[in-house]
Amino acid sequence: MQNICVYCASSTQVKQSYFEAAAQLGELFVAAGVSAVYGGGSVGLMGCFADSVLNAGGNIIGIIPRFMCEEEWNHGGLTELIIVETMHERKEKMAFMADAAVALPGGCGTMEELLEVITWKQLGIFTNPIIIVNLDGYYDSLIAMLERAVEENFMRQIHKKIWTVVNLVEDVLPAIHNSPAWDKTVRKFAAI
Ligand code: AMP
Repeated sequence: MQNICVYCASSTQVKQSYFEAAAQLGELFVAAGVSAVYGGGSVGLMGCFADSVLNAGGNIIGIIPRFMCEEEWNHGGLTELIIVETMHERKEKMAFMADAAVALPGGCGTMEELLEVITWKQLGIFTNPIIIVNLDGYYDSLIAMLERAVEENFMRQIHKKIWTVVNLVEDVLPAIHNSPAWDKTVRKFAAI
């Protein structure tokens, strides 16, 4: 079974269509026999996504720092909850358990997770597909910033193949399957 890591918002205050998309992604994963990995939270899009996977009978592993558990931010009903000591350890474990990473809309936590995994792929230490789910154009500015980084030679043209942008949740799994191959040899292109 494939493991796919999902980054998404902890906010409870985002618009309903984002919740619907998070729930739909969970259902699509289970229908495809995909196991989910995420940050282990119980609220916002994170909680909604996890509930959707669980309600559909799927597997979902949460990885969460101990301090968040002490605040009782963790989801109580996951297939597995892995408690780690630091945010860095969490992100590393999430990425290295994942056959692909998917970013739904989120705040700075989600964007930071996404940019880190993009950086790791540029360095050849994460080589799997990365999908940005640009619902309602939410990520337009971030995508434009990444493209500008390429245009201005802060990154190479080849680095645009690191991520794939989709507009709809139903396009996530096909985009993962069609992602360009990537391996450690890209490391020699990491420096500009
Ligand atoms: P954001 O997109 O800023 O909401 O960030 C999502 C990330 O925020 C998660 O991966 C966590 O690192 C962190 N986070 C913030 N608040 C919570 C919470 N209440 N429960 C779980 N994770 C949270």
